[in-house]
Amino acid sequence: MKIPARGLSKDQTLALLAEQRGGSPWAEGKMFSFVFLGDEPGREVAEAATQLFLWENGLDPLVFPALARFENEVVAMSLDHLGAGPEAVGSFTSGGTESVMLAVKAARDHALARGVEGPVEMVLPATAHPCFHKAAAYLGVRAIVTPVDPARFTADVSAMRQAITDRTALLVGSAPSYAHGVVDPIPELGALARERGLLLHIDGCIGAFTLPFFRRLGVEFPDFDLSVPGVTSISMDLHKYGYVPKGASVVLYNDAALRRHQLFVFSDWPGYSIVNPTVQSSKSGGPLAAAWAALHYYGDDGLMAIARALKGAVDRLVEGIDAIEGLSVMAPPAMTLIAVRGEGLCVFSLCEEMKRRGGWYIHPQFRSGPLPENFHLTVVPRNVDQIEPFLADLAACVAAQREGKRRSGGGLAEAIAGLDLASLDDAALAGLIAQLGLAGGKLENRGEVNQILNALPAAVRDRLLLAYVDALFRPARD
Ligand SMILES: *Cc1c(COP(=O)(O)O)cnc(C)c1O
Repeated sequence: MKIPARGLSKDQTLALLAEQRGGSPWAEGKMFSFVFLGDEPGREVAEAATQLFLWENGLDPLVFPALARFENEVVAMSLDHLGAGPEAVGSFTSGGTESVMLAVKAARDHALARGVEGPVEMVLPATAHPCFHKAAAYLGVRAIVTPVDPARFTADVSAMRQAITDRTALLVGSAPSYAHGVVDPIPELGALARERGLLLHIDGCIGAFTLPFFRRLGVEFPDFDLSVPGVTSISMDLHKYGYVPKGASVVLYNDAALRRHQLFVFSDWPGYSIVNPTVQSSKSGGPLAAAWAALHYYGDDGLMAIARALKGAVDRLVEGIDAIEGLSVMAPPAMTLIAVRGEGLCVFSLCEEMKRRGGWYIHPQFRSGPLPENFHLTVVPRNVDQIEPFLADLAACVAAQREGKRRSGGGLAEAIAGLDLASLDDAALAGLIAQLGLAGGKLENRGEVNQILNALPAAVRDRLLLAYVDALFRPARD
């Protein structure tokens, strides 16, 4: 494919784009997660703010002073929201992964500066988000994973204590964890961090913005924010429950001296001096402006109203799901994330049937160590008035599966049963990918493929997924 020899007109170009757009199941409230919209005027505010500042470049805060001001105000509001002390600071980033990576980098360099011998280690509960493993891989930090309480899915503090070594720099807790929607015992983790002179990062990417509202609505969970003794940093996404388009998160530190290890400068070259607080250098002002605008538009009262509506939906979902025979909510949700187990049911086929029957998007989660496979709901404001139709379809899909009407993908499981997974070479892997219908980035029979992936050892599954994504992103050819 070549760059078109002749440019199109504006109208032709826009028409081409519109053709590609397709439907928006998220706009109809059929998608749990992915797209977080507050309300319609809030969406217009975020879009207008993005447009107004889309071309401004956050590279140089002196040239675009509004962006420096937005950042300092968004961070100040975030710090206040999360119980920070007077010495606290923070940075605006492009997303949760960047926020977490920066916190891990700051912790690594803080430890190295104190004379800890590398490779630096961090101790994570098994439920910590994969972005910590990505940070570990990118930053040369070792991730030491500890089991969680098998009944409550929260961090096991004594297991984490036992995993601490001379190289440990950082402990990690989630508020809440993505997979099960529960808050780790952060006060106990804070006490452990203080006792051992370690840093403690709280992954509040998905929940820290909303948890304070749920607490005011009477939901009980452990204290988790920067006011907890021992917590040294926290990450919080605004592009999730802050209801702005993607590209908006903050990482906050209780102590400016720690944040200094996050910053990067370089002036020893013949060009402009690089003075970068975060990973991106040139960056659009759009997401930051949208975050600033959304905080002003929704305000505490607006966010509280949305939280109340979300809580009503979550309560009804939990009640409705538990009433369906064979399904059970795995843990009382701290906010809006619900994991659901199927007893004698295949959750992978269930997810596919829900899509077929009602156009619902829900996620299966693989079994992990002792934690069973399940499906996951991230309840967003658009879902709120779709709860009854969702529950009705869910009950119908469960009933259909019980009556044995499950669709079969055609013996895939039998086909791979004979393979020696431990010594799978590249050719055998390619064959397996073809058998699963994953070649060329395709994904047919998703329900059965997931069932098979679920049964594989994680290391083999990762190799398959890597090959899959490698095939998915290949240049378009004529
Ligand atoms: C979404 C999420 C992340 C990663 O954030 P991205 O914005 O997708 O990079 C990290 N932790 C938790 C708990 C999350 O839900």
